[in-house]
Amino acid sequence: MRDFVLERPRSISEALEILKNQGEKAILKSGGTDVIVWLHKSLKEPDYLVDLTGIDQLRGIVMNDDNVEIRALVTLNQVIEDNAMNRYFPALVQACKAHSDPLIRNRATVVGNICAAVPSGDMIAPLMCYDAKVEIVGSRGTREVPVSDFITGPKKTSLRQEEIVTGIRIAIPFVETSGCYLKATRREALDIAQAAVCCTLHKGDSREFRIAFCAVSPRPLRAVEAEKLLNSSSVIDDSIIENAARLAADAVNPITDVRASREYRIDMIGELTKRAISICLRGPAEEGGPR
Ligand SMILES: Cc1cc2nc3c(=O)[nH]c(=O)nc-3n(C[C@H](O)[C@H](O)[C@H](O)COP(=O)(O)OP(=O)(O)OC[C@H]3O[C@@H](n4cnc5c(N)ncnc54)[C@H](O)[C@@H]3O)c2cc1C
Repeated sequence: MRDFVLERPRSISEALEILKNQGEKAILKSGGTDVIVWLHKSLKEPDYLVDLTGIDQLRGIVMNDDNVEIRALVTLNQVIEDNAMNRYFPALVQACKAHSDPLIRNRATVVGNICAAVPSGDMIAPLMCYDAKVEIVGSRGTREVPVSDFITGPKKTSLRQEEIVTGIRIAIPFVETSGCYLKATRREALDIAQAAVCCTLHKGDSREFRIAFCAVSPRPLRAVEAEKLLNSSSVIDDSIIENAARLAADAVNPITDVRASREYRIDMIGELTKRAISICLRGPAEEGGPR
């Protein structure tokens, strides 16, 4: 591992100043569960490591009347333990539980997961289903980007060199909701997804399903055709679920790698989609009761 200077800013403005001065020589760190591995393997060789964990403004899950803000230093375990997150966003909580193991979840952040932008990132699909917005601050001010636009390719985001993600904003549902995240892995814990499906259901005046995937496309992907079929069907029976699962499998474009073949991944997307739709239809009342 190459030597670097460890910077520990105490405020967002201090962190931005370091980024402005050091440019591409600096890399940000939140939980460090990706960054420290990259440094050890010399996959990244920054001159400056900017550790954000001393910035109190980046802590906390903040609810207001309409939105929840998951700030940048919120760990997966904090999401799992939060009552409001369990009530309104059960699919995100399940994705956090499906990530790694309890020790890593104590460090890893939701924001770090989307900034790493790997196609197998467990937070991406639920944040797509919940239509989350990424809050960004830079020397030119603040901006907000949907998760779908934030991740532009494998390990690529639309974040500029001098910017920091301060949090993720999600609108609180005003209707009864259910949701789940189903992840296929080679073993029970500490494994990256071979494929995963997130499904959410908002049960308002009209029913709204959303389905998104993990590890089967270079960019975040929603199952638009499957969603249309489910949302336009007055009754959802087994044949509609079968057809929606087929449409979902048709939508993905996975690669073959050490974890699974392309064919296996496509099959798993069909199977997991079927199960996820059924789980959402049954939707336990305690998961996502109305506001
Ligand atoms: C043993 C192990 C198991 C793992 N299992 C899983 C798994 O099951 N599923 C999964 O999805 N991932 C897994 N990971 C990967 C990793 O834990 C996650 O991607 C994690 O959520 C990253 O969060 P972090 O806070 O640790 O990010 P960091 O390592 O701190 O940063 C990750 C990236 O985000 C950038 N970044 C961090 N914070 C900000 C910010 N506020 N603004 C802008 N950029 C920022 C960093 O510069 C870096 O590019 C695993 C890692 C390990 C070591």
